[in-house]
Amino acid sequence: MSIVPPSFYARWRSSALGADTLREAGKGAVPSERLLQQVWFHQRLLREQLLTADGRRVRVLHPGFWSREGGPDFRQAVVQFGEDSPHRGDVEVDLATANWRAHAHDRNPAFQGVILHVVWEGEPRDSQAPPVLALKARLDAPLDELGLWLGSEAAQFLPDSQIGQCHGPLRGLAPEMVTGLLQQAAQARLQAKAHQIQARARQVGCEQALWEGLFRALGYKHNVWPMQRVAELLPEVLARERLGDTPLLALQSRLLGVSGLLPTELPQRWAGRATPYFRRVWDCWWRERDAFSDFILPRIVWRFHGLRPSNQPQRRLALAAHWLATGGLSVRLEKWLREAVAERSRLPSLLELLQPDPDPFWSWHWGLGSPRLAKPQPLLGEKRLTDLAMNVVLPWFCMRAAAGQNTALQHQVEELYFAWPSGEDNAVLRLTRQRLFGGAAPRLPRTAAMQQGLLQIVRDFCDHADALCDQCRFPELVRELRG
Ligand code: SF4
Repeated sequence: MSIVPPSFYARWRSSALGADTLREAGKGAVPSERLLQQVWFHQRLLREQLLTADGRRVRVLHPGFWSREGGPDFRQAVVQFGEDSPHRGDVEVDLATANWRAHAHDRNPAFQGVILHVVWEGEPRDSQAPPVLALKARLDAPLDELGLWLGSEAAQFLPDSQIGQCHGPLRGLAPEMVTGLLQQAAQARLQAKAHQIQARARQVGCEQALWEGLFRALGYKHNVWPMQRVAELLPEVLARERLGDTPLLALQSRLLGVSGLLPTELPQRWAGRATPYFRRVWDCWWRERDAFSDFILPRIVWRFHGLRPSNQPQRRLALAAHWLATGGLSVRLEKWLREAVAERSRLPSLLELLQPDPDPFWSWHWGLGSPRLAKPQPLLGEKRLTDLAMNVVLPWFCMRAAAGQNTALQHQVEELYFAWPSGEDNAVLRLTRQRLFGGAAPRLPRTAAMQQGLLQIVRDFCDHADALCDQCRFPELVRELRG
């Protein structure tokens, strides 16, 4: 006979796990916002009975893709109100209607595409806000039961709505066919990037096109355009006056200055703890600021929200200043390519080339005003290195090889490209894998080219279709490949 009391586990789970997802408020339990998002994601609703707070019927044709990157909670939903034709847009989930204003969504441009405000309890919206859908009376099971279900294994499976129409055809492909298809998509991406760099090189020269590509990649996805602009200013930044005895400091100060990321006055809150480095940069920039005044970017072009500390643009510019101060980057890259091809060692040697010596300030601080770190942090990590290689360095060499009609070099670059180990996973890749392969992704080589292939399919197909895969021709392509 068991010494564990009957139903002990089930009772404990019910009280502990259910309670985590609910909180008491006034007249009864209310879900956490996270639980409400999961309810929407899985559509655990009386879907035939959905009404807006002002009484219009709501048909959810697609709940959208859950976004974890700031902005509205669900992107690209498709919703029909009454007899209107379907609307495409974003969905925001909040506990109360009032949160629309309280969370300043009404003033945030990122929320302009919201077509439905999903809440737990809600009053009719004000005229400036999106339609409100309250879920409290529309759940398909009691709230505590939903809390338990959503913590269970069953809820880990993707809802059918998230799976793309290409999922069925792809499931019928042998893994090696999927690999081959993704490799060809990756090849198309490499060529497209090489052409883009070539087009820019025709205007500004090969070397400048390389710098612009590197700066854009350092901007990651949030600050690509301001980084591009700073790169366009490099001829000015490098040409004006001599850089003096401390070229690294002068370059860091100029890049930070023209980017608009240095304060115009020393902030009061830093008064007591401004580092000697900051004072030197600030003094340096102060002397030169007038000479660059026509070029200084407004600070509002930069985006800081949702950035990891290591991706802060000041830190990225400090890294670029190291590359510029060392000089001869394109020559050193050419040498690296020759050695990489000969020795078949790619990543470590490129990291060595692009990783600067420890920086007395930036190795120890995430930002200008941030406290000293307990341990030094490299200015360039392996994940960012993969981005630089796949998006800039290898396409740049590919462009050079094509321009010089050097087929052997082209093949060598492609060999490196296809063998490069995979980079950091991200939300776009995760979502794409879910849409294409559901919960059963085939075993694919762990290379960056597989990731590039997936991103190219997004670019070529998903970006041109809606969440329902309307008019997407990728399933047709896969069927043809199978046939
Ligand atoms: S849009 Fe096309 S490629 Fe993207 S998931 Fe749907 S069917 Fe697949």
